[in-house]
Amino acid sequence: MENNNASSNFIKNIVIEDLKSGKRKEVITRFPPEPNGYLHIGHAKSITLNFELADEFNGRTNLRFDDTNPIKEDTEYVESIKEDVRWLGFEWDGLYFASDYFEEMYKRAVLLIKKGKAYVCDLSPEEIREYRGTLTEPGKESPYRNRTVEENLDLFERMKNGEFKDGEKVLRAKIDMASPNINMRDPVIYRIAHATHHNTGDKWCIYPMYDFAHPIEDAIEGITHSICTLEFEDHRPLYDWVIRECEMENQPQQIEFARLNLTNTVMSKRKLKLLVDEGIVDAWDDPRMPTISGLRRRGYTPEAIRNFCRAIGVSKSNSLVDVAMLEHFIREDLKIKAPRTMGVLRPIKVVITNYPEGKVEMLEAENNQDNLELGKRQIPFSRELYIDAEDFMENPPKKYFRLFPGNEVRLKHAYFIKCNEVIKDENGNIKEIHCTYDPETKSGTGFTGRKVKGTIHWVSAQHAVPAEFRLYNSLILDDEQEEGKTFLDNINPNSLEITQGFVEPFMKNAKPNDKFQLVRHGYFNVDPKYTTKDKLVFNRTVSLKSSFKIQQ
Ligand code: ATP
Ligand code: MG
Repeated sequence: MENNNASSNFIKNIVIEDLKSGKRKEVITRFPPEPNGYLHIGHAKSITLNFELADEFNGRTNLRFDDTNPIKEDTEYVESIKEDVRWLGFEWDGLYFASDYFEEMYKRAVLLIKKGKAYVCDLSPEEIREYRGTLTEPGKESPYRNRTVEENLDLFERMKNGEFKDGEKVLRAKIDMASPNINMRDPVIYRIAHATHHNTGDKWCIYPMYDFAHPIEDAIEGITHSICTLEFEDHRPLYDWVIRECEMENQPQQIEFARLNLTNTVMSKRKLKLLVDEGIVDAWDDPRMPTISGLRRRGYTPEAIRNFCRAIGVSKSNSLVDVAMLEHFIREDLKIKAPRTMGVLRPIKVVITNYPEGKVEMLEAENNQDNLELGKRQIPFSRELYIDAEDFMENPPKKYFRLFPGNEVRLKHAYFIKCNEVIKDENGNIKEIHCTYDPETKSGTGFTGRKVKGTIHWVSAQHAVPAEFRLYNSLILDDEQEEGKTFLDNINPNSLEITQGFVEPFMKNAKPNDKFQLVRHGYFNVDPKYTTKDKLVFNRTVSLKSSFKIQQ
């Protein structure tokens, strides 16, 4: 795989330093998703970073499911995550589940209890919150904090054996209720949840909390650099505490970077799940979703996503990236890869009155002028065609150079045609447009007799392949919400527009996820869900133009 590692970042610098100083002999990273939803473009940033970093130093990357919360997790998510990581072009070294380590974690928790570093607490979740204090006030010690080791060992075992109800007891690390860092104020490390786990079934009814589980998982796997997002910066002292006090052999280092935020996009899995559950989108892979599966259905390629992730870089400060930048990278990729063909999104019929009835002429065209390897194709031309409704106006304003009564335009790859008459039905709607063509003006013959200002695309009516076009706009109108409103109040009611039209016969046998540029309309992907034997369905990936200029 091509690996564009030319650019540096602060994490890479840490790795280089660690290898130079002998602190590390190798680089082992991991991508640790919680299987509680589908992966999104933010995860792609983390995936690209972790896999490419290890790859550059001949290291390894594990895919590890951080499945410590049985209530929200599901094997559907596990499968989709594997598929998406692979599709992005990465191969993991080890495939692990945090739940594989439950036994080991339990032992480490017992070790903490024996060392007097953990205790069973009976305070309710609300009380624990109250006792925790605030940023300006220290916390209060739990009345259960000084239970004996024996009592704690007994209670913790009974928690494990299912003798207590959810929320009745927790295991807490005994650190410092007066710490200026709230995460260090005796954090909960185990809770009771009588729930069936997608991997361990009903074996466990106590589950480790993220802050306890994650460092242990990293240490067990020998992770050297544990890369996570900035919100965990204040958790790092706890991460280090767990590694130290649990006496883990390996000592991974947590390094935080800024998560990706995109304009007009919600990224949290909780919100994305809400969009699915509320029926605002089709499913997790709806092409309007910023999920990897949604982007795939929309027509994004792994290369475009990886290039985007490299270009946004890795930093320590949160920022908002313009979604136009993501669009820039798919245009760049498809510019060369996609054949440039013709499709009519909102058809109106054109009859060329001086073209012989029944005659069909095959016109030849390059599939992509910027990539001759894509070859040539034949486009049938005949007396009746479809053009796009937006390419005709009965009463055009000044500077409208497309078709209107009395005007002449070029049909792409074909002839000049001139509009002579507009035929309407009894309701006054345009039925067909009557034109004449000039046989002298055939494309590629070097005709220089006169010029026309407009070139429009078309398909031959008798050869046209019916197609549905799905045109997308931002799902989210505004990144900010008014007070008392949620992101659901910012949903764009016009995020999807569907039209019925035609494409040229070249595309008749197109397969799901084949990609085309429909000239002047943008890049399109054959939808893998809705396309049938009888009808092609196209998702518009992106239009052709953007005002966005990338700084390079
Ligand atoms: P979400 O808030 O979307 O649910 P999460 O962080 O809870 O995300 P995880 O499944 O725990 O989701 O994430 C797996 C990895 O992906 C973590 O290391 C996390 O830091 C990283 N990650 C998640 N969202 C982003 C993002 N927007 N940008 C960069 N990395 C991200
Ligand atoms: Mg999470």
